[in-house]
Amino acid sequence: MAKALTDSVAVLSGVGPKTVAALATLDINTVNDLLFYFPFRYEDLQTRPLAELADQEKAVFKGKVVSNAVVSFFGPHKNRLNVRLLIDGVVVIVTFFNQAWLKDKFKLEEEVAIYGKWNEQRKSVVGMKIISQSTDNALDPIYSVNKQVRQKKLVELIQTAFKNYGALLGNVLPDDIRQHFRLLSDHDLVQQMHFPKTLTESNAARRTAIFREFFLFEAKIQQLRVNNSEAEDGLQLSYDLPALKEFIATLPFALTTAQKRVVNEICADLKSTHHMNRLLQGDVGSGKTIVAAIAMFAAVTAGYQAALMVPTEILAEQHYQKLVKLFAPMKVSVTLLTGSMKSKPRQNALMAIETGRANIIIGTHALIQDAITFHKLGFIVIDEQHRFGVNQRRALREKGLNPDILAMTATPIPRTLAITTYGEMDISTIDELPAGRRPIETSWLKINQASQALAITRNQMDHGDQAFVIAPLISESDSVNLKNAEDLAEQLANYFAPKYQVALLHGQMTAEEKAEKMAAFNRNEIQVLVATTVVEVGVDVPNANIMIIYNADRFGLATLHQLRGRVGRGDRQAYCFLIADPQNEVAVKRMEIMTETNDGFKLAEADLKLRGQGDIFGDKQSGLPDFQMGDPVSDNNILVAAHQVARELFLADPQLVQEQNQGLKNYLRQLQATETFD
Ligand code: ADP
Ligand code: MG
Repeated sequence: MAKALTDSVAVLSGVGPKTVAALATLDINTVNDLLFYFPFRYEDLQTRPLAELADQEKAVFKGKVVSNAVVSFFGPHKNRLNVRLLIDGVVVIVTFFNQAWLKDKFKLEEEVAIYGKWNEQRKSVVGMKIISQSTDNALDPIYSVNKQVRQKKLVELIQTAFKNYGALLGNVLPDDIRQHFRLLSDHDLVQQMHFPKTLTESNAARRTAIFREFFLFEAKIQQLRVNNSEAEDGLQLSYDLPALKEFIATLPFALTTAQKRVVNEICADLKSTHHMNRLLQGDVGSGKTIVAAIAMFAAVTAGYQAALMVPTEILAEQHYQKLVKLFAPMKVSVTLLTGSMKSKPRQNALMAIETGRANIIIGTHALIQDAITFHKLGFIVIDEQHRFGVNQRRALREKGLNPDILAMTATPIPRTLAITTYGEMDISTIDELPAGRRPIETSWLKINQASQALAITRNQMDHGDQAFVIAPLISESDSVNLKNAEDLAEQLANYFAPKYQVALLHGQMTAEEKAEKMAAFNRNEIQVLVATTVVEVGVDVPNANIMIIYNADRFGLATLHQLRGRVGRGDRQAYCFLIADPQNEVAVKRMEIMTETNDGFKLAEADLKLRGQGDIFGDKQSGLPDFQMGDPVSDNNILVAAHQVARELFLADPQLVQEQNQGLKNYLRQLQATETFD
């Protein structure tokens, strides 16, 4: 059989089943994988004249051994090896500590290279290691490896692979793109990444590698988009426009301009035959729920069921209450399904869902259990979509008739990163809050100033406000000195007694208990709710105008912003108090940013500058993909450029029939054969 880059690494000489398995732990399965497994840095083996070195600088020293290596022992387990090298005509003493076994490596009159630290005054070197001079290259590639695969073995395999397969490396990037951005061919890229002669060469290769990685990522997304929009099996939901208008007229408020715009975008998708895969992005409180409700109603008037999946039972319950009220005038039947439902109501719900009596179904991931069969599910909404895994989203989708999908998120992603996170989706953005909303006044207090926040809270409660108080822990902990909700609830109960009621809510309570507490808070029977972050998502109590967050530095910006978004939903001024003694610069900055802006998108941008990729917002909500070479944050300009050219390429040649796109087409086809891309 002819050689191909897709050959298993097993074809390489010296690779048996054991090595195949070992390489697989690094995701290296094919020759191509091996060739594109790039080093993450290089050790510079170039030597420089001694006169150029600064004191204590680490460098490579090459010289001739001019004395026997002598090992002396001092103290238990301690030894020192001394050897003299002739470097640039100067005799330099090299000392290794506790590496007596290196003694045999120094042979009189032979050349050696070592890596170590230069002492300018004494003209001596503290050696760190001996460098093998097997390659002529001045740069030694360093790969990310593990116990199963060692550095040396990997280098050997890559050399073998390049020797036997290097000539097969074609060009995945179309020529004109390569020329325009001055990028290397795949062959030169692989060669210069693994075996660069100079740092300049390796830098050029790295730039190509990053562009190529981003471009191929974007190309996969663009291809998904093409396949998605050309699939003829999307539902056409011919909704009843007059009924929709009638429904909107029953709402207690007028829609904002932004809400109207996104409703139109969604409705256009529903009506068309193409399969809708849309993200609705909007800050907390921007009114996404009502938009989802209008869209679900549209689906119902078209004769389909609509489902809303939310991440927590509290939210499901709350949305249910809200939507029942909202749809009362429209004779739409709303059904709730959660995991904690008792057997009888659960059976009723299942029946309603199966027979089609239920028009709109709201639930947690209970919705995707096997036992649940929908009558005619045509539209699904996934709230706080990043809380669900790909498989959960897919499972719900498979409950329906290739239903249209609207995913919602209140975690704002800077535009430049949305490219990577949501590239395969269409995006609708609500960038405006309902009129009359006053920005929440946020202040940051040190822990010993917390009483100020409580005094203001008491004063506001005298005017009818309610308050959330958040603590990072449920109960006392020996290991960390953080506020816990249980103690805090007790202290505040004393503080606010007898006039105001204080209650506790946390994640270890049963769903029933939690729902009860929330309901009591909603009815204003409880004025202060002390909680952990379980109230984070979506909870909506118009009277709650105060949010106090203890140990606020312990939370990421996204969480803080979400928590703050729980208040200020009514007409009165709302306040947020961050109680924190942050321990580092970044946490201080986070507190400051929170006090400066209420705008989630601005927060996200600011945070982006503060941190690197993968740590956006300080918690794992960002959903950014992992890249081997590029960093979407620091290499953002490359990301944006790659996105743009990939998009233009697919607009011009969606089926990749043009000659210059054949390399890319082959690459994507092979990829499809070997992995499933979500
Ligand atoms: P989100 O889910 O985007 O955080 P919600 O949909 O929960 O926001 O809406 C927040 C609050 O604003 C709700 O009480 C909702 O009834 C109200 N609301 C939504 N749209 C409008 C509007 N156009 N005008 C006034 N109030 C609105
Ligand atoms: Mg919401």
